[in-house]
Amino acid sequence: MHWLAAAAARAGLKGADALVIPPDTGLIDAWEIASRTLGLSAPELAKILAPTFGLAEADFEKAETRALTLLPERIARKYHVFPVREDERHLVVATADPTNIEVEHAIGFAAGRRPIFELASPAAIEEALFGAFASDRAMDQLLSSVDEQVADAVRVVEDLEPESVDAAEVDSAPVVKLTNLILRDAIIQTASDIHIEPGAKGGTVRFRVDGVMRQYMHLPMVALNRVVSRIKVLGRLDIADRIRPQDGRSRVAVDGRYVDLRIATVPTRDAEKAVIRILRPESTRRLDEVGVTPRELARLRQLLNCRDGIVIVTGPTGSGKTTTMYSAIREMATGEVNISTVEDPVEYELPGITQIQVDPKRGITFANSLRALLRQDPDVIFVGEIRDSETAQIAAQAAMTGHLVLATLHTNDAMSSITRLIDLGLDRQTIATTLRGVLAQRLIRRVCPDCAQPLIGALTEEEEALGARYGVLPLSRAMGCKRCGNTGYRGRLPLIEVAVITPALADMIAGGTSGHALQRAAISQGMAPLRDVAIARVRRGETTLQEIERVIGDQVEDQVHQDSGPPAILVVNADPSWRRMARALLEGGGFRVAEAMDAAQAMQLMGSGEEFALMVTDLMMPSMMQPAFPSQAQQRVPSLRHTTAIQMPNVPSLPGPPRQEEPAAPPPPATPDKEQAGPVDWARFAATVQSSIRRTEH
Ligand SMILES: [Zn+2]
Repeated sequence: MHWLAAAAARAGLKGADALVIPPDTGLIDAWEIASRTLGLSAPELAKILAPTFGLAEADFEKAETRALTLLPERIARKYHVFPVREDERHLVVATADPTNIEVEHAIGFAAGRRPIFELASPAAIEEALFGAFASDRAMDQLLSSVDEQVADAVRVVEDLEPESVDAAEVDSAPVVKLTNLILRDAIIQTASDIHIEPGAKGGTVRFRVDGVMRQYMHLPMVALNRVVSRIKVLGRLDIADRIRPQDGRSRVAVDGRYVDLRIATVPTRDAEKAVIRILRPESTRRLDEVGVTPRELARLRQLLNCRDGIVIVTGPTGSGKTTTMYSAIREMATGEVNISTVEDPVEYELPGITQIQVDPKRGITFANSLRALLRQDPDVIFVGEIRDSETAQIAAQAAMTGHLVLATLHTNDAMSSITRLIDLGLDRQTIATTLRGVLAQRLIRRVCPDCAQPLIGALTEEEEALGARYGVLPLSRAMGCKRCGNTGYRGRLPLIEVAVITPALADMIAGGTSGHALQRAAISQGMAPLRDVAIARVRRGETTLQEIERVIGDQVEDQVHQDSGPPAILVVNADPSWRRMARALLEGGGFRVAEAMDAAQAMQLMGSGEEFALMVTDLMMPSMMQPAFPSQAQQRVPSLRHTTAIQMPNVPSLPGPPRQEEPAAPPPPATPDKEQAGPVDWARFAATVQSSIRRTEH
């Protein structure tokens, strides 16, 4: 009986009696058979079997470099063992075959110490060996599979300055080949980033594809260090400096196509980590080429046709907002308009456009670049991201003096950017006058057209739950094949909600509405929210519910949660100081407050989708129903029927709420006669509002 089968039987493993391993089976195959028959992974098996030999399970995380120097690589490879750590008389060695007496002798002889065995699977030992014994031989082995032509397909476009190459080994052929191989594969797999990072057991190369990290290869540490150095040379970084973070850029040609690389290195505890962002020229495709849905595209173009004002694209990092901005700029760059940008960093160079790279070290900030640009009278200005109040102020000024300002912000949905702009120091009136529109964006993965399956038959539990949550049944199921790296997804599609700031929305912004109420109003004014745009993509079979859940799941939850917010009160009064006082009192009482200065503005606010529990006014509200207002007003404004109005003139005595069937009164004067009005009894005001709210809640 094979020792592995015997050990499995001793451990009492289920299925051990069915485990048959021919006696002459190799170590790797024997573990493979045992693992498959018993339905356990190799590491699980090692953990369970170790005690049956009175051994510990090997922990490679605790591997010490000193132990490595005690055992020649030749011996380690021959016997599939890995030296983990040592003390004065012992060498702790991971083995995949603790029954091999010959190993014990060989190690004792070579290391001059008595071995103490720990158990590990052959694969784990191989991996550790690969990471530890880095040699040109290991590199050669790695590269033997690389086709000459493939590695040579990558060409560095900008020649290196001779003085930047001061370590000959960095340019040695295998390192160049390996680096080129990594770059080429990353570009072919449409990765956006390459991460080359040191770890406990050697280095790892990972790609970010469609926003998700994907394992690419393991590298011995020495190879990793050389590849990182080679990449630093490409980015014209100081390869001697391994202590400070550095960044640079490079341009390579792969199979004749140009690709720009943005290279950043950061020191880690053991070595340097390199991250390479791949900037593709096709990332600056025109808007109609990036897959924006037709309705959203039309709304976006409407915004880009504005002569002045601010248009904002918002979304979290990696949501593709910069790409959308670049596409928009490309579309506008017809040669008839003067377009300038201030960016940090400049991600793509656009022909025919003035681009300024922010560089605080050299005193080039967003704010002073913008000021300088404005003197050159551009038509369109793209501010990479508004991060400080100075920039926000200048952007607003530019927007008010006949320039169209494009900018990005970092918020979850379109209307949250209002709150963000207020935080950045802009006042509501300025925002209401200058803001033309806001786009919120996400990127969603497209199901792989090669392996997606039509969803027929029974749904999984997850699909059922998600279907119920989003109110749609998915058309296709993500499977996974070679072409999509077994992820089931290939390529990404933008999800965009476009809020066009209508006069009604502008009034709400000026009147103090923000957040979810504003978002709802924007929807009633024609904006399809992210959720709906995403669902439409599911209906067309372009993506899955799991993918929507991954990308906007949190937010959908938020919306449900915010639906039961505090009641909203509309304050209508011509006197701004009266409105301010009322707002302070009501907000202090936990209400949301919107303001209007006259009946017309109040009507507009109510027509924009916001529901008010109460309207507090100094006007005779029935006047809203007179012929001066469109007769269809009541149909257009359904919320009016649910809103109780209380009349609150600037006099201490408060009349009760007017009855709906009261005959139309003549329109009141725009400004109440203050001479006749006494001081306002604010305590009584608060009490009246409270009791009215209680009445409406019954
Ligand atoms: Zn596929």
